[in-house]
Amino acid sequence: MELSPGAFCSICVECFTASDSIYSIACRHVYHAQCIEKWKSRSRNCPECRCPFNSMERVFLNVEDDSKIQSHANELKKLRDKLYESEKKLADMQIKHTISEEKVRELEKKFESVKKSEEALRKQIESKQKEDCDTPKTYMDVDEMYEDFVESLERYVEQLREAEEDYYENLEWQLLQLRLDNLEEY
Ligand SMILES: [Zn+2]
Ligand SMILES: [Zn+2]
Repeated sequence: MELSPGAFCSICVECFTASDSIYSIACRHVYHAQCIEKWKSRSRNCPECRCPFNSMERVFLNVEDDSKIQSHANELKKLRDKLYESEKKLADMQIKHTISEEKVRELEKKFESVKKSEEALRKQIESKQKEDCDTPKTYMDVDEMYEDFVESLERYVEQLREAEEDYYENLEWQLLQLRLDNLEEY
């Protein structure tokens, strides 16, 4: 039996080499001896075509350039490793992306709550300022009332003084009148 270079075992997905021990089953599909033995312990159907099988026959490969096939196999393996690495990196990046999205959402929430408390604080300050504005007004009213009271007191004192002056003037005049009357009598 001859297999084209690059033929591979579909269980382990590796190319056959001249040194491999290879078996064919009832459907004529070929696999590595160790691969199909392992498979047989789980299933009695061909991994490729699902045909039932019992016996296995050893086949011998005539590989023209075994080293070339081996290097292709190695390259394939490297590519598969790279693919696996990229998939892992992609998964990591997706996790990091999810984490950063969560952080952004968390920060947005924090920002929102800071904004809310800032708003509440602003309102408090505004109402306090309004209170402060109202308070001096009351003081000013009291001040005005006090000033009015003092003014009216001063006016009253002035009136009293004027009345006193009038009284004394009147008294002096009466006294003078009495003296004049006395002089006339003598
Ligand atoms: Zn195999
Ligand atoms: Zn098969």
